[in-house]
Amino acid sequence: MYERILVRYGELTLKGKNKHLFVAKVVELIRSKLIGLDVTIDKRHDRLFIELNHESEVEVIKRLNRVSGLHSYSLITKCNVDIDEIALKAIEILQSKTKDQVITFKVETKRADKSYPLTSQQLSPKIASKILRTLPNLKVDVHNPELTLYVEVREDGAYLYIDQIKGMGGYPVGIGGKALLMLSGGIDSPVAGYLAMKQGIEIECVHFESTPMTAIESVQKTIDLVERLSIFAPHNKIKLHLVPFEPIHAKIMATIPESYLVTIMRRMMYRIAAELLKKNKALAIVNGESIGQVASQTLESMACATEVTNALIIRPLATYDKMDIMSIARTIETLDISNRPFEDCCTIYLPNNPTIRPSLKLALSFEKLFPYSEMITQAVNKTITIQVSAYDHTDILGKGLTVEECFE
Ligand code: ATP
Ligand code: MG
Repeated sequence: MYERILVRYGELTLKGKNKHLFVAKVVELIRSKLIGLDVTIDKRHDRLFIELNHESEVEVIKRLNRVSGLHSYSLITKCNVDIDEIALKAIEILQSKTKDQVITFKVETKRADKSYPLTSQQLSPKIASKILRTLPNLKVDVHNPELTLYVEVREDGAYLYIDQIKGMGGYPVGIGGKALLMLSGGIDSPVAGYLAMKQGIEIECVHFESTPMTAIESVQKTIDLVERLSIFAPHNKIKLHLVPFEPIHAKIMATIPESYLVTIMRRMMYRIAAELLKKNKALAIVNGESIGQVASQTLESMACATEVTNALIIRPLATYDKMDIMSIARTIETLDISNRPFEDCCTIYLPNNPTIRPSLKLALSFEKLFPYSEMITQAVNKTITIQVSAYDHTDILGKGLTVEECFE
């Protein structure tokens, strides 16, 4: 029934050069998400049409839902600018939408082609009365209709649509600079990464992996999460930095009192992340911390952990409820991956009584117990960087290899 999709950009309040950049980025993203589909993109001033060329509209919309910066879409059908033809098309759309239910509606006509002899005010009632003759279940309500049929009269034909499907919103990913996402195998950090991308931030991921203390499956889980997140990324790819964290992890376990294990571990992670930030020319660290969720996410714990760096740290989930985080995780399809049972370095050997009010003075004195700065340099230098792609699965399991050997 529909031949094309009308795509509206978000943030129409942007002006001048910014708007130009915004639109260029959105269009580039749309092209990369529609890869492999035989569709034609017809770019106009403030919106864009996608000619479906017999591709499934459901598939195209599923792909468009991965483009940050899009405001809404409508499925469009086109006919000649002739009242009878318009009414016939309208009846076809409305019938399939309403399925004979009693519904109020109105026709809203826009005349982009000013050479057409009838005005919008004259056209709408003419079309509506023809529709009403065939579809008695519809009632006109011009003030508060349940359904609006939009008709746009253009030089090349009349365009009809009824629904506006909400897009992802936000800004095109990449327009807001680059950040490093601290990605664990949990539920929260992939959601934080998605929200950062939705806000226009391109991400690279950092994972602190403690193999062989933790199972190699925990690294595979992280790769799979990045693979899933990369469907939202520019060119459907995201870099993943795998930091060999086991030596530091083991040293912390052997030397630091139990209640400060997590505090010190997080301070080490931030030190390494800050180094990787410089090395990879990223502007901020993004993580999945949510205030109050666990002992390490009280304001006191977060302040003590981040005291090691003055890097900009963004916590998209700081004020989110766990249920809302899970609901986003379900929508972006990371939840099932996160729920796989393998432990990462933060969940294995969790202390019974982690401090919720760490003292910086104590943390500093505990850190004197081992030569951490050399170990941090080692970890940074031995970090393995891989490119994860939405369309090219990376599998490291069942090979009997270590993480390092997998990527040699
Ligand atoms: P998540 O569900 O994302 O694992 P969490 O509630 O389990 O979060 P923590 O384990 O305290 O919380 O971690 C808080 C944040 O620190 C995570 O959201 C993530 O951004 C980062 N983080 C934790 N462990 C790692 C890791 N092994 N590698 C990279 N980042 C990590
Ligand atoms: Mg975690």
